[in-house]
Amino acid sequence: MGVREGFEELYGSVPEGVWAAPGRVNLIGEYTDFNEGFVMPLALPHTAVAAVSRRDDGVLRLHSADIEGPVVELHVDALEPLTNTSWAAYPAGVVWALREAGHLTVTGADVHLASTVPTGAGLSSSAALEVVTALALNDLYELGLTRPRLARLAQRAENDFVGVPCGIMDQTASACCTEGHALHLDCRDLSIRQVPFDLAAQGLALLVVDTRVKHALGDGAYAERRAGCEEGARQLGVSHLRDVAYEGLSDALDRLTDERVRRYVRHVVSDDHRVEQVIGLLDAGDVRGIGPVLTAGHASLRDDLRISCPELDLVVAAANSAGAVGARMTGGGFGGSAVVLVESADVDTVTKAVTEAFAAAGFTAPRVFPGVPSGGARRLS
Ligand code: ADP
Ligand code: MG
Repeated sequence: MGVREGFEELYGSVPEGVWAAPGRVNLIGEYTDFNEGFVMPLALPHTAVAAVSRRDDGVLRLHSADIEGPVVELHVDALEPLTNTSWAAYPAGVVWALREAGHLTVTGADVHLASTVPTGAGLSSSAALEVVTALALNDLYELGLTRPRLARLAQRAENDFVGVPCGIMDQTASACCTEGHALHLDCRDLSIRQVPFDLAAQGLALLVVDTRVKHALGDGAYAERRAGCEEGARQLGVSHLRDVAYEGLSDALDRLTDERVRRYVRHVVSDDHRVEQVIGLLDAGDVRGIGPVLTAGHASLRDDLRISCPELDLVVAAANSAGAVGARMTGGGFGGSAVVLVESADVDTVTKAVTEAFAAAGFTAPRVFPGVPSGGARRLS
């Protein structure tokens, strides 16, 4: 059953419209966002789809076809940050963020949604949920907010209402990506540029490999890396590592005494540089050329930042041995997903090689699916 029919069955009326917002995968630029550097996500074909109608009585009714349980009923005047620990906090947080920003005309909604974005695989199912809600309310209540503004409000919902300290990349990707492009996002001034990334035309494909691993140590390790980067910036006398020029990297490293801080600085400054390299190659039409840059990015995450894990390393090693053009882990690390760039003709060979390597190592079978650069959030009907 589609969300439109699901909405009608739940709420006994026809929804005013149906919207979709995608999950995302980051092509290059990891742990660079909080250093005010560069990231380069693309939207996936997988989307959260929501059927939505306005309400004028302050009631907010939320339902997900993917979650067992009744309709969650809240009141817009009674939304309290950090009090709702269920999935409903993501869409409710968006309503809260809109009203906090002064959009008090948002006086309730009926929402029924369903999503094909895998959850907890580092592909931002949460941002898809927030952005689809934000776009639907923006359209229905005629708020006239821009895509980047909607992304900021969705991030605020996740940071301050749900209580997850994520950067701006996920929501911006879901709101602003366009088909056939990767999105260059400058995390300092939040400027964006669509960079052509037409894989099919070049006879290439991007595979997303979900390792199905989620390590609990992820959160503490993230905070530790972040603190290490801030320490590096402090010792180098810059506000953020973004301000350390790649050309001056080896001099900068010479000035750092702590081995751990040196590794983190080397990763961040070199990954910002890799984003620029990838943009240069894509602008020049050399999509294949980015393969070695992706693989170098993986080595940096594994050896310098030390946020990989055996499963992610195995995806990269097995894929590259089987003839992939390049591969890297993507996202926060310690599990989640990897991206693999392959010749279209090699998709099956590389998929089989990775799957067999996982079986031989005794790992849970990975999920492999195409990462076609897709469009951002949109109204469907
Ligand atoms: P990621 O964003 O990487 O997938 P998160 O932990 O940030 O992982 O977000 C996952 C959470 O988002 C889920 O635990 C759930 O609360 C919510 N969520 C995602 N998709 C859905 C869905 N289809 N229905 C309800 N809640 C969802
Ligand atoms: Mg998330």
